Amino acid sequence: MRITAAVTEARGGPFVLSELELGELRDDELLVEISAAGICHTDLICRDQWIPVPLPAVLGHEGAGVVLAVGAGVSKVAVGERVGLTFDSCGSCPCCLRAKPSYCHSFFEHNFAATRASDETSALSRGDEIVGGHFFGQSSFATASVARERNVVGIESHIPLDVVAPFGCGIQTGAGAVLNTLAVPPGASLAVFGTGAVGIAAVLAGVIAGASTIIGVDLLPARLALAAELGATAVIDARSTDPVEEIMRLTGHGVDFALETTGAPAVLRAAVDCLAPLGTACVIGAPRQGTEVALDVNTILTGGRTVRGVVEGDSVPQLFIPALVRHWEQGRFPVERLMRFYDFDAIEQAVADAQSGATIKPVLRMSSSVGVPS
Ligand SMILES: [Zn+2]
Ligand SMILES: [Zn+2]
Repeated sequence: MRITAAVTEARGGPFVLSELELGELRDDELLVEISAAGICHTDLICRDQWIPVPLPAVLGHEGAGVVLAVGAGVSKVAVGERVGLTFDSCGSCPCCLRAKPSYCHSFFEHNFAATRASDETSALSRGDEIVGGHFFGQSSFATASVARERNVVGIESHIPLDVVAPFGCGIQTGAGAVLNTLAVPPGASLAVFGTGAVGIAAVLAGVIAGASTIIGVDLLPARLALAAELGATAVIDARSTDPVEEIMRLTGHGVDFALETTGAPAVLRAAVDCLAPLGTACVIGAPRQGTEVALDVNTILTGGRTVRGVVEGDSVPQLFIPALVRHWEQGRFPVERLMRFYDFDAIEQAVADAQSGATIKPVLRMSSSVGVPS
């Protein structure tokens, strides 16, 4: 079928709407008409080749839509059902078997290779040219996507697809770090470095968990104001205040948990240095491949502190996304407050607004007003 997709042609290049051909489904695949797709920081660092996704390719990994067709082996969802798309994984490696699919041993092949993990083909083409697809098992900056049965989650008819689309990556990443990875207990203290979409999802999850101290740290006053409105008990503008000193002043001995969502090594250092004894710092923001960080060994050793990486909030998406949808429906997880919605053909404006900080979470709407590609 013919689709319209935003193609990234070369490193750092714009997202250009093009008409592509989408080929036959494999048995374990389904075709999804995309209603909406969030833009995540990972789309932009893959565009910029911090992670070497082969180009040209269609990025986009927070899609949601309606099933148009299913392969012969698909039984979980049927044509006409609504689905959210999330990251892909193999289902059979030791981490997948331990219900930790975001640490799948073949996570790169399933999410960043821009081909099917099974046979290194792509469903997308343009004339004789193969175009990379299957990014996070979806490539959802497009009017239709090929997903696998394994990386779709059913969404009930009364839940808005444009709000739930970013649950597939950024939102479950922040919330999952708090609720799954750390299992933050009531009364705990939590510092969130970077109050973008991942960070504010973590703040909201901290409120749900009953954390009594939730400290947001950022450089942008508007984001800090929103974090405070949505449950941060204190916010620190790191342009004018040293966050480690201020967290020590506020807590007396540091925080139990810290989340680093920015990808900046100096911020990771601060997230470790503000921990109380036995505290845990989570590395969530992705820097350029090969980035190193300096930590004081004795900070880790003498306080029994932990530093660990967290991918996709340790989510089992088929369990965790429906749980977050319930929190949203019941008013405890108002992530739509972070979102601004754009027509698909305004994707470059949406990206620019994300990069300037004017929009925390841009969400593209594909179903209407897609311009005719030139
Ligand atoms: Zn696996
Ligand atoms: Zn993402």
